[in-house]
Amino acid sequence: MHNDLVAALDIGGTKIAGALVDGSGRILVRAQRPTPAREDGETVMRAVASVLGELCASPSWLHVTAVGIGSAGPVDAHAGTVSPVNVPGWRGYPLVDRVRAATGGLPVELVGDGVAMTAAEHWQGAARGYDDALCMVVSTGVGGGLVLGGRLHPGPTGNAGHIGHISVDLDGDLCPCGARGCVERIASGPNIARRAIEGGWRPGPDGDGSAAAVAAAAAAGDRVAIASFERAAQALAAGIAATATLVEIRIAVIGGGVAGAGEVLFAPLRRALRDYATLSFVRDLVVAPAMTGTDAGLLGAAAAVSRGPRGEAAATAAG
Ligand SMILES: [Zn+2]
Repeated sequence: MHNDLVAALDIGGTKIAGALVDGSGRILVRAQRPTPAREDGETVMRAVASVLGELCASPSWLHVTAVGIGSAGPVDAHAGTVSPVNVPGWRGYPLVDRVRAATGGLPVELVGDGVAMTAAEHWQGAARGYDDALCMVVSTGVGGGLVLGGRLHPGPTGNAGHIGHISVDLDGDLCPCGARGCVERIASGPNIARRAIEGGWRPGPDGDGSAAAVAAAAAAGDRVAIASFERAAQALAAGIAATATLVEIRIAVIGGGVAGAGEVLFAPLRRALRDYATLSFVRDLVVAPAMTGTDAGLLGAAAAVSRGPRGEAAATAAG
């Protein structure tokens, strides 16, 4: 049992990553393919099968006991299906059945990517040791997940904690999800860049108009760039404060590309939290950057299966 491994899949709109992961969270074997996101569903599945095929070819595959999948959402963990927004060929796609068939009938666990990142941070990262946590990914979109009472809380379909689509601006801009003023519509990387450009900020000679370029400009003192990050921080703070007030989290962990802006994001975020997280039981909320980085999806998928989808084994199996 000591040598048991799990196969982990991290499926996003850009890449499909796979790994064999041991019980202490070490990644032993890796495989990766670009996601043929614009192709039909079976073509996307062939890329997944190709990643699994490469993992299967490793001698370590003999020790694999289960497969964990973290996928871009929405997912339906109950039905075993995925409908990633950025992979139109997959709508209600029976990914769990297909992966089970491709791996000779191994048990398969599916969670959304926000929940996977949360599992990773609770296992190996900044939320380790916290029984009540919100973990967020702020990048092209804004996702998240919850740990409550010491256990991962994926919810019935695996999407709980999806803070990106909480409205923090009642009459705000229309969000692609259909609601208005969502956290994601204000705080995602593309929206930080859009707002900066609308305010008059212009990319440098390299033409880089990304949120990372806005972050660099903000760090250099550009007022429009600073204001765009402050607005994003305000939206994140309002969403975090609402979550903390609702379910009493002790820490909010923030990862994803936009979190790479460092203090450009975290300083105004901590300030804004003082405005929104006001009650005695949320005032001491900790905000911390994520620690598991680009492997969060793989580690989280592994955690979801090796520690149980709710982290039941956390007390005994975590090193
Ligand atoms: Zn929305």
